[in-house]
Amino acid sequence: MEFEDRCHKVQEPKFDCLLFDLDDTLYPLSSGISGHVKTNIEAYMVEKLGIDESKIENLGNLLYKNYGTTMAGLRAIGYSFDYDEYHAFVHGRLPYDNIKPDPVLKHILNNLRIRKLIFTNGDKVHAVRALKRLGLEDCFEGIICFETLNPPCPPQGDEEPEIFDIAGHFARSGTADELPKTPVLCKPNVDAMEEALRIANVNPHKAIFFDDSVRNIQAGKQIGLHTVLVGKSQRVKGADHALESIHNIREALPELWEEAEKAEDVLYADRVAIETSVTA
Ligand SMILES: [Mg+2]
Repeated sequence: MEFEDRCHKVQEPKFDCLLFDLDDTLYPLSSGISGHVKTNIEAYMVEKLGIDESKIENLGNLLYKNYGTTMAGLRAIGYSFDYDEYHAFVHGRLPYDNIKPDPVLKHILNNLRIRKLIFTNGDKVHAVRALKRLGLEDCFEGIICFETLNPPCPPQGDEEPEIFDIAGHFARSGTADELPKTPVLCKPNVDAMEEALRIANVNPHKAIFFDDSVRNIQAGKQIGLHTVLVGKSQRVKGADHALESIHNIREALPELWEEAEKAEDVLYADRVAIETSVTA
């Protein structure tokens, strides 16, 4: 009976997948990368989309707040641009040297015998480059990234696009009602997140989601994920755990190691039983 119980637990672990955001989750905010991303996005808006510099800060904040990413917001209000070119501009010149190899995290991940996936709003080139800098490129089964959820942007016609005045909208109505929809799928949009999990064949009720963004964590909770807010010591609504550093996974989720150890115990017990019966 006891053996059956152990088998039951091994066959049906509570969790079977870990989903990790990348930026400011697998490496610390103190790397300064996110500040450079923001600066580069603003430069893209001025240099490539011709937006007046004086409007950038307010517009960027409104888009980020209402659409999850500035890029998703830019598409919603009417701008068309090549996604690869945008990503190359925003990420291509980041100071990747600021991201340091993390052998401690590598050791932790390699000791967790469970599916591990990256789930980032960033593009694949950026994700691979950052993971290589961290020394973690071999630690994950796959990367769910911008391209996983978004086909290329349709080419823009010759006509000048009509741009929705989102700043004017908020000045007039003060609400997010009746904002244009974005064609871009990204966190924290719950439909985008559910689609990502479907593509990767992840059952949200058996997965743990690590992210530094409160709204991503809250959206994750909404779709049934077990959630861990990273980079903060205080839990917020929607977060099952809060970790100051991703290095503290074991303290927050000791059951992951307990399950792995139990699985090993049973495998070992089976092996001993088989070997004993062969020699007997
Ligand atoms: Mg992040």
